Amino acid sequence: MNQPSVSVIGAGIVGVCATLWLQRAGYDVTLIDAGGIGEGASFGNAGNISPGAVVPYLIPGIWRDAPGWLLNPEGPLAVRPGYFVKALPWLTSAVRSAGEEAAWRTSRAMHALHSGTLDAYAELTRGTSAADLIELSGQLYVSEKPNGAQGSELAQRMRAEAGVKSVDLDWMEIRELEPSLAPVFKSGMLLPDNGRCKNPHHLVKALAGVAAQHGASVVQGKVTGFEIENARVRAIMIDGKAQSVDAVVVAAGAASKRLCEQLGTRVPLEAERGYHITIEDPGVMPRLPVTNTDAKFACAPMNVGLRLAGTAEFAGLDAAPNWARTDVLKRQAIRMFPGVRLDSVSRWSGNRPSLPDGLPVLGASPKFNNAYFAFGNSHFGMSAGPVMGKVIAEIVADGKPSIDVTPFRPARFERA
Ligand SMILES: Cc1cc2nc3c(=O)[nH]c(=O)nc-3n(C[C@H](O)[C@H](O)[C@H](O)COP(=O)(O)OP(=O)(O)OC[C@H]3O[C@@H](n4cnc5c(N)ncnc54)[C@H](O)[C@@H]3O)c2cc1C
Repeated sequence: MNQPSVSVIGAGIVGVCATLWLQRAGYDVTLIDAGGIGEGASFGNAGNISPGAVVPYLIPGIWRDAPGWLLNPEGPLAVRPGYFVKALPWLTSAVRSAGEEAAWRTSRAMHALHSGTLDAYAELTRGTSAADLIELSGQLYVSEKPNGAQGSELAQRMRAEAGVKSVDLDWMEIRELEPSLAPVFKSGMLLPDNGRCKNPHHLVKALAGVAAQHGASVVQGKVTGFEIENARVRAIMIDGKAQSVDAVVVAAGAASKRLCEQLGTRVPLEAERGYHITIEDPGVMPRLPVTNTDAKFACAPMNVGLRLAGTAEFAGLDAAPNWARTDVLKRQAIRMFPGVRLDSVSRWSGNRPSLPDGLPVLGASPKFNNAYFAFGNSHFGMSAGPVMGKVIAEIVADGKPSIDVTPFRPARFERA
């Protein structure tokens, strides 16, 4: 008998992990990407793998800070002037999600999705070249303000409820733990159970290679639509050609909105653009990932150099990058790492797939009984990816996910 088959749209961290878990569940998988493997948001992120990521970005207090960030050209948040009206419904909806009750719901759902990330990666990478790319390194958060690194009292309560281990550090302890940092940081917080990926692009490529070795077909092409018959997806259109499918998983990151809508489900997905610089041969390298909680960016020791990554810019999926934002990161590198050499710096921008309630879409299509959605991890896709992949494979296989997926249901944004 032929194996049942599934087509996965999008070869980012989510799609590649979904492919591997689907293979383990006995499916014959076709992995389709419009570009190169792992060349979307998964290419250039900061590689923080964070089982302890339980504090939503949209948390009470953020809207007090946001206007100041928007007015500061060096600030962590930007909306392109021409895009403001388009972004307004998303921003308005995000404001509603930043109340305390909603933030707690989001925090608990994040915990369910992130806490098993290192175990899930270990299972997927064991015995492969990808295993060396993930490390339980701990992560350091620093601030120039006393008590700034720990975040708000609510953030601390969220970590405590989830059992996330954290160690507060003073000026001297920060210096001892991470001597590469300038002596400007007054408070620090170490999350010892968090980890890092040494190169997200290498990881996604290596995992796709494992999937191919196990028989996955990897196809380059853009999915432009679907052929529908009796509440089922009969075929997907790849570069204008119909390819019949038994089942389809949409894992196309920030580009998932249109595909999802073509399948009858509206989701307010926005591209939340981030930027990085990677400094080759920087002359100074932190021992573990460091997040600057004042300026809201991450510094990551990568196997290709020192990467600074961050900023959230709303400009639309296809807008040209504003490279001035990477100049801000260069200035930050000089401030944080005395003696850093900026002779060879590459720059990149990528679109985080972001929903206004801070949670991804993960589940079966409410309209088509062989279509599934797994996208929208915003700032946390490297952490959520392997668990998202596992859960969507469970849903495809028998509709019985190992975590409660109610907070992630695809139809949650539609009016009853
Ligand atoms: C600056 C920055 C720093 C970040 N740092 C971290 C971090 O430290 N830790 C963390 O956990 N997360 C981080 N993130 C978030 C993380 O990168 C994303 O959440 C994650 O990469 C999303 O993965 P994905 O597989 O959903 O999407 P993507 O990686 O974007 O993959 C989607 C793929 O779908 C393909 N595709 C799109 N449309 C089609 C189509 N029609 N047909 C075929 N293929 C299609 C694209 O080509 C792409 O390859 C960061 C993001 C940014 C921008």
